[in-house]
Amino acid sequence: MEFENTIGLETHVQLKTKTKMFCSCRLKTGCEPNVNVCPVCLGYPGALPVMNREAVKLTVMSGLMLGCEINCHATFDRKNYFYPDMAKDYQISENGSPLCIGGGVEIATPKGPKFIRINHIHLEEDAAKINHYAATSGVDFNRGGTPLMEIVSEPDISSADEAIAYLEALKEMLVYAGVSDCNLEEGNMRSDVNISIRAVGEKKLGTKVEIKNMNSFSGIHAALEYEAARQRQCVARSEPIVQETRRWDSEALETASMRTKENAHDYRYFPEPDLVPVELDEATIEAWRALLPEMPEKRRARMVEEYGIAEYDAEVLSQHKANADFFEAAAKGLDKKTAKQLCNLFMGDVMALVNETGRAVGDSALKPEALKALVSLASSGAINGPTVKELLPELFDKGGDPEAIVKERGLGAVSDTAALEAMVDQAIAANPGPVQDFKNGKKAAAGFFVGQVMKLSKGKADPKIVGQIVQRRLAQA
Ligand SMILES: [Zn+2]
Repeated sequence: MEFENTIGLETHVQLKTKTKMFCSCRLKTGCEPNVNVCPVCLGYPGALPVMNREAVKLTVMSGLMLGCEINCHATFDRKNYFYPDMAKDYQISENGSPLCIGGGVEIATPKGPKFIRINHIHLEEDAAKINHYAATSGVDFNRGGTPLMEIVSEPDISSADEAIAYLEALKEMLVYAGVSDCNLEEGNMRSDVNISIRAVGEKKLGTKVEIKNMNSFSGIHAALEYEAARQRQCVARSEPIVQETRRWDSEALETASMRTKENAHDYRYFPEPDLVPVELDEATIEAWRALLPEMPEKRRARMVEEYGIAEYDAEVLSQHKANADFFEAAAKGLDKKTAKQLCNLFMGDVMALVNETGRAVGDSALKPEALKALVSLASSGAINGPTVKELLPELFDKGGDPEAIVKERGLGAVSDTAALEAMVDQAIAANPGPVQDFKNGKKAAAGFFVGQVMKLSKGKADPKIVGQIVQRRLAQA
């Protein structure tokens, strides 16, 4: 019998706010334990939470990007559990009435585009971090109370590859809109995955297994592949698949049972009495919608259309908003041919400088207007290719106006054919040896003369035109 996987993801994303979800403690990593804490996030009795408006805004913006319906009357609940990472013994979360409902993400699969539906997005506070040492464990409340958005997908995902494509798509959007850094190493984006299998054609979902709290895409991929194979083996051996929570062991490369349904939590949710509902009006939602940037996929298509650049280039450019913004600021108003040259220069030489220096293009001294001027000079023939390559590192490092520099240093290209012909003749007259080589069939000797003329012109000749003249003159020599 053939089986298929049904996979759903619950993805926790740390929101990029300055302060915590219900208090004004700052959010900062790399601090000594328990320095960014107060009675609210330490759960002192009687301390009252105050909603972080920015967290609500970022969650709603995410919902708008994902095509969710925004709930204008969202309420919070207490999720009760006893564990050292939550001092007040309950987490404030949205159970019954989350901020965003529905929506979804389109992903690319080998069989074509596929839509992964989202059930809802809710807002909650993160728990503290438990650190384990040789003989003891410690609780660090710096992270306690961090605003988390949980994006819950429908079980529309059918493979480990699709799960990763879904997460990549989410990450790209959320980083683009500045909602989260989605830094996986720092645990900014963690997922619980649910997976079950069923016979192809069967409508009912199989018994699901949950794997908790994974923060690397490679770990999620490996855990899903492992679990899909394990469940098939269970069926093959006529063993029941147990509904349970399993843990991914990244060293043994297998999942292991943590707890079964019998002792699963009953959180006894009830409405949080210390918070009023979040009431949103249309005007506020529209104002937040206006803050959303154009999404990478749309931007790609538009850049191909508008600047005539290759699809691949548009894709690479749009991956980093800062790069795409810089390119577009420089390309504005250029014809398609020049815009294409600009794109080549940006993707090649400018990116090489970024890699070499470790400076992002926005942190360099190069301004979009200067890059535009440089490409325009080259495109009109006013300067040649070698001059562009010579000036670029200087503009990147110190800035400046290319037109002024070219004028001041006399770097304008020599395109006067008569002058170039004279230089070619001069080089031929001075080098009888290579001329003889050329006549004897050593065609590469022509390159020697191009080099000589470049020297004579102090690098300002157009090597292409010189090459043509050299060929013509050598044939006549
Ligand atoms: Zn606090």
